[in-house]
Amino acid sequence: KNFEDLGLSQPLLDGLAEMGFETPTEIQQQAIPLLLKHDGDFIGLAQTGTGKTAAFGIPLLELMDTSSRDTQALILAPTRELAQQICRQIEAMSQKMGRLNVVPVFGGANIMGQIKDIRRGAQVIVATPGRLMDLMKRREVKLDALRFLILDEADEMLNMGFREDIDFILSKTDVGRNIWLFSATMAREIKKIVDTYMVNPEEVRI
Ligand code: AMP
Repeated sequence: KNFEDLGLSQPLLDGLAEMGFETPTEIQQQAIPLLLKHDGDFIGLAQTGTGKTAAFGIPLLELMDTSSRDTQALILAPTRELAQQICRQIEAMSQKMGRLNVVPVFGGANIMGQIKDIRRGAQVIVATPGRLMDLMKRREVKLDALRFLILDEADEMLNMGFREDIDFILSKTDVGRNIWLFSATMAREIKKIVDTYMVNPEEVRI
């Protein structure tokens, strides 16, 4: 199967073609049709480097309301590097879709610049958990229009000690049944998050 067979819109197909993406990877083949149904929580068990970013980024871009300036999607990632990489890939995939504001926020960088970026409008925020929690406590992120919450490399975020921050963020956001969690392993601590915040998630394992 290629990306056309997945029923994606032309601007998104054009963006993927521009990036040289021709054939969906295994996790993309399996996750994209499920996520496009937009019907509940989701768990993707896959190692890094398998094409996870596009596996959630493609359905996210198809399901977002690009005409709304509200923050509709929040993507949590363990490191600054990964957050920046996710931003770049989402921007590249959406290059033919018209303007989309994707804002990265992460610790170890000046918070005022990030606050300015968010105030200018952030339809998608890609964040490390600690810095996002800080911004939430300062009331600099408004998450009441949030419709998608994605946790990338969830096991890595827990390994790095973000458990309490993730609990804080998940307990203060309400996206209905639209939590998409990606992890290399289903460790006990991941299971706890799944059981606490997710409802009957569909699971894909590659
Ligand atoms: P990720 O696991 O999302 O970090 O992706 C790993 C690498 O594979 C990245 O450099 C992506 O740009 C690339 N990639 C992801 N999906 C595809 C695809 N369908 N075709 C070609 N390259 C891809």
